[in-house]
Amino acid sequence: MEASSVTRRLFGFANVRDWAWWQLPPVLRGYVAAVPITALGLIGFAASRTIWTLDDLLKFLLLLTCGAISVAATPRVAYLKPGMARDFLTAWVLPVAILLPPIYAMLAPIPLQVLTQWRVHRGVVYRKVFTAGAISLTYGAASLLFASFPASFAGSSVGTGKHALTWVLAVAICELVGGRGHHFLIVGAIKLTDPSVRLRDLELDREALQADFAEFDLSVLITVVIAVNPVLAVAAVPTVLLARRFIMHSQLLAASRIDTKTGLLNSSTWEREAELEVTRAVRMSIPLAVALVDIDHFKVVNDTYGHLAGDKALRAVTDALRGQLRGYDLAGRFGGEEFALLLPQARELDALNVAERLRSHVAGLAIPIDDEDESAGCIRLTISVGVASLDGESRELTDLMAAADAALYYAKETGRNKTHVVSAGLRTLLPAAGHWITGRLATGCLVRTD
Ligand code: GH3
Ligand code: MG
Ligand code: MG
Repeated sequence: MEASSVTRRLFGFANVRDWAWWQLPPVLRGYVAAVPITALGLIGFAASRTIWTLDDLLKFLLLLTCGAISVAATPRVAYLKPGMARDFLTAWVLPVAILLPPIYAMLAPIPLQVLTQWRVHRGVVYRKVFTAGAISLTYGAASLLFASFPASFAGSSVGTGKHALTWVLAVAICELVGGRGHHFLIVGAIKLTDPSVRLRDLELDREALQADFAEFDLSVLITVVIAVNPVLAVAAVPTVLLARRFIMHSQLLAASRIDTKTGLLNSSTWEREAELEVTRAVRMSIPLAVALVDIDHFKVVNDTYGHLAGDKALRAVTDALRGQLRGYDLAGRFGGEEFALLLPQARELDALNVAERLRSHVAGLAIPIDDEDESAGCIRLTISVGVASLDGESRELTDLMAAADAALYYAKETGRNKTHVVSAGLRTLLPAAGHWITGRLATGCLVRTD
């Protein structure tokens, strides 16, 4: 990381008035502040009641180092999915809560969240502060709970036989308090941010349940191992990393299909999936069409407003694509400002209408250059679209793409902000009350003109 970018971010953070936290609705703002402030107050109280020993401090540093390695090795994609990041961070906080006085479990999430913010994910700072506060409170409570169990049930050593079993049970109960507790505090914040989010979607999908179970299981096992000998913490690091990778497999797989800037399919995935659809459509004689979309004069947008504004405009067009298409259409980013759409079940006329709806929607967009400063103005842009369908002579994706590309080229050549289709012949009569030029142009393209 460049020193200048760290300095810039530190200075940015020092400017309290610019904190994104101020933009939150009042109730959420209060909730998001109350959790870390309560945690800070209790940390101060716990610190005054703690008997500090070198032995505890060394154990704490060792566990913190293992946690830091685990965080630093977390791929960024773990934090990109909406909702909670399953980074297994608490697998290192539970042993701290069980084997050391509560103050350590309350302090542990702070450096780990700082590291997450600065090294792995440069997200919104108040979220990290909130998460650190939530973990601090609930694992502090878990630590107090463990200390309150009688020595015959839990105590400072694992022991053997029946005691080892009750000791593990006590640790599992504490993990439920710490893990579920901080989860629910975070879910509270997500619900306050967006009341339409359903808990079922956040908590009960297979992936989330697997991740929760793996985190619970690993946290308890690691605590047992470290209770036997703290140095064994080092051996637990690779286990945590491997388990997290396994849990993230489907997320990594999904990420490898997606173009990160726009969230659409990347070009290789789009082509692979489109080829399958075309083969199926030909075999079953089902209609299908493709459309190639290219933003007009996009270079001028970049040159005039800068690349960041250009990226924003690119995402606005992408959102429009997503909004206008059906769930089973495939949209991919083909190149810089070019997109490919596959429209299953769409005849030539359907595809033309979809493309035309998209074209006129984009032409009507006013994309604010700066969300917070209306006076900065808006970007307006247009797209050109080339359409080709299986109604014609094409039987393979490459033929369809070549035909759509020819239609797109023609749209560009004839003035942009247009939709064209390469038609197989004169059979096409477009009924949209005179909007479409019917019949065949010399170039083999039908054209919609405003
Ligand atoms: P035309 O109407 O002929 O398509 O003109 P154009 O300017 O859109 O096409 P050209 O191929 O000359 O330029 C494409 C521009 O798209 C140039 C490039 O800087 C910009 N571009 C490509 N990818 C991105 C991106 O991810 N972000 C931004 N901001 N710009 C991009
Ligand atoms: Mg272009
Ligand atoms: Mg282009």
